[in-house]
Amino acid sequence: MSFRASVLTLYPEMFPGALGLSLAGRALENGIWSLETVQIRDFATDRHRSVDDTPAGGGAGMVMRADVLARAIDHASPAGDPRPRLLMSPRGHPLTQARVRELATGPGAVIVCGRFEGVDQRVIEARGLEEVSIGDYILSGGEPAALVLLDAVVRLLPGVMGNETSGEHESFEAALLDHPHYTRPQEWAGRSIPEVLTSGNHARIAQWRQAEAERLTAARRPDLLEGRDQALTK
Ligand code: SAH
Repeated sequence: MSFRASVLTLYPEMFPGALGLSLAGRALENGIWSLETVQIRDFATDRHRSVDDTPAGGGAGMVMRADVLARAIDHASPAGDPRPRLLMSPRGHPLTQARVRELATGPGAVIVCGRFEGVDQRVIEARGLEEVSIGDYILSGGEPAALVLLDAVVRLLPGVMGNETSGEHESFEAALLDHPHYTRPQEWAGRSIPEVLTSGNHARIAQWRQAEAERLTAARRPDLLEGRDQALTK
């Protein structure tokens, strides 16, 4: 069974976008995953096909209507659909590699892309939407966030990455940032590759990489080390 993604959006033309190329694009062609877009506006019922309205309580901007969005969700993900329903949202849980891995082992995802000021709170509750953020900044819509999430998930699907093991030594997989990488030429612009990497001594190379990963993580992301120490002492 392949991974099934359904994306609910006002801009279906944004998909598959970057995911139609390279690894994800080939995997899409090969049926390793599938992508369906649902135009939320198709579920509007009034004369103007409106999907948004002014915020209750006043203020700037517009809010996506609960009734329209719920009809789109029910169409894409009827009761009994085993896939998690995600709402891209800066208020959500920050996306982690652990959650990405979990999603990649599941049946797929239903992804709602917000626009305007966001969506009516009642549909989030009534349809059990899990809010997911891709970082502490504001995008103009959930579409780029959905592309980011799907890119991270799709590359982990079996058969997508050429080298099946290459996903295991990357940043975050061990709560550490990745070590630095080098490739030929041996000498470039007066800089040479660290001697240990060309020594052929695999134990020393592994040790050096581990030490570099720890050094970089301590310098740049001490929060990751704290999380790891806590996990180890639990
Ligand atoms: N008023 C909202 C921002 C709305 S931005 C707030 O301050 O929280 C419009 C839409 O873009 C959101 O509904 C969401 O779907 C998407 N979006 C914006 N930033 C995002 C982020 N960091 N992660 C995921 N989705 C985001």
